[in-house]
Amino acid sequence: MSQSQDECRGTPGKVAPVIDVNSCEAKGDCVRVCPYDVFQIRVLTDAERASLSWIGRIKTWAHGNKQAFVVKPEACHACNLCVAACPEDAIVLAPFKA
Ligand code: SF4
Repeated sequence: MSQSQDECRGTPGKVAPVIDVNSCEAKGDCVRVCPYDVFQIRVLTDAERASLSWIGRIKTWAHGNKQAFVVKPEACHACNLCVAACPEDAIVLAPFKA
C-alpha cells in the first residue's frame, strides 16, 4: 500500500479497486472479504467479453463467463483486504474520482 493509500485508509471515496479484467477468474474472494459490498460477481456482457484478450476470454469461459465488478467504488475504505485476498493478484487500489 502506498503512502497516499495509507493516508486514505478509513476514509471512503479517496481510492477504489481496479480489477485486471484479463486476470480475474471470479473466484469471489473480494466479495467475501470486502466489508462494504464494493464488489459483485456477474456474467459478462458480450461487449465486455469481446474487449478481453484471447487468454482472458479463455479464462472467463472456463469460469462460466463470470468476473468480479466494482459496483460501489465510492464505498471503498482502502482497507486493502481485497488486494491481499485475490488469488490472481488482479486488484489494485487507485485514486477514485466520482
Ligand atoms: S480496499 Fe477494502 S473497502 Fe476497498 S474494495 Fe477492497 S476490501 Fe472493500
